[in-house]
Amino acid sequence: MAQVRPATALPAANDDRIALFDLQRQRARLDGEIKTRIDTVLAHGQFILGPEVTLLEERLARYAGAKHAIAVSSGRDALMIALMAMGVKAGDAVFVPAFTFAATAGAVASVGASPAFVDVDATSFNMDPAALEEAVVRVAAAGKLTPRAIMPVDLYGLPADYPAIQAVADRHGLTVLADAAQSFGGELGGRRAGALAPISATSFYPTKPLGCYGDGGAILTEDENLADSVRMIRSHGRTGTGDEATVLGLTGRLDTIQAAVLLAKLDVFDLELARRREIAARYDAALKDFVTVPTIPDGSESAYALYTIRVDKRDALKEALDAVGIGCGLFYRLALHQHPAFRDFVEDGLPVSEQLTREVLSLPLHPDLTDPEVDRVIEAVLDASGA
Ligand SMILES: *Cc1c(COP(=O)(O)O)cnc(C)c1O
Repeated sequence: MAQVRPATALPAANDDRIALFDLQRQRARLDGEIKTRIDTVLAHGQFILGPEVTLLEERLARYAGAKHAIAVSSGRDALMIALMAMGVKAGDAVFVPAFTFAATAGAVASVGASPAFVDVDATSFNMDPAALEEAVVRVAAAGKLTPRAIMPVDLYGLPADYPAIQAVADRHGLTVLADAAQSFGGELGGRRAGALAPISATSFYPTKPLGCYGDGGAILTEDENLADSVRMIRSHGRTGTGDEATVLGLTGRLDTIQAAVLLAKLDVFDLELARRREIAARYDAALKDFVTVPTIPDGSESAYALYTIRVDKRDALKEALDAVGIGCGLFYRLALHQHPAFRDFVEDGLPVSEQLTREVLSLPLHPDLTDPEVDRVIEAVLDASGA
């Protein structure tokens, strides 16, 4: 079975806490490979758009099955640059799920457009295509904004329902931009995240399934023109190395050193994904009769950025796990319309998103978690739920 070899030299633990993420174990496991690749960058000195960036882009595109991959400075910048390349602007509405990380709506607002919040499906945690259809019709009828794009999110690593969402997009003449920040490595219908929408954005934030040692992200697309625009925008709007700014751009490139780290991690990415799925299956089997475990639809694979359960007495469970040294996370305690920053975009009627903010809890999940640790988490959850 695909087992990620446990690091032989774990950092001395001064307690037996189980962390939600543990990047140090992965670092110990890949230490030599990462340092060699970083040393190569230090030696050649091409810190911006060096050869590692080009190689990473080729490998990301091949991995995802997308025509183009363009490495950029973060996941949020990837979304923003994609929106800029698509020409999304003030007066446009971009439909986003209400239950996601704040950066999803932040990217939309940053280009002057208005995020329009859509409720999610309680089982998949992802954008509800029926609610999307209603939201598009409602925004169009209100006449204040022009429906322009749909930005589904692959929450916790599970791809959204792209076939159903694309059908809504086609009916209304909208473009789909996937927020695949959490789902690199996820699959739907035999295709991988990054190739599930005409254009996708992902993140290499350190705790994402494929993470670097700083900020990073990528845009993947089938469309040659969009790819060209993205390349220009990430580098001050210039073409190639020319000094003429053709379009409005920004400093949006991925550092060569981060590309070097990602190349080392990409070599073991499939093994790590397999280990994530193995741990998820262990949680599923032990917990499914006591809490609501994630549902992965037939034909889909989650990248398991997070393993998120639903429980009625969520806050009590969190307290109990904290008390026994088990790290867990609340992603997300606020739906987008509940953030002060997005007050101006409030829409009513997002009951599922609001309910999920009170019920979700993410358990420790990373490829270096050991089976005995997983069992300890399971035991603690069962104890606390009175099972
Ligand atoms: C992490 C994340 C982002 C932003 O990525 P950064 O690299 O942190 O900028 C955007 N959307 C979602 C859903 C995310 O989880």
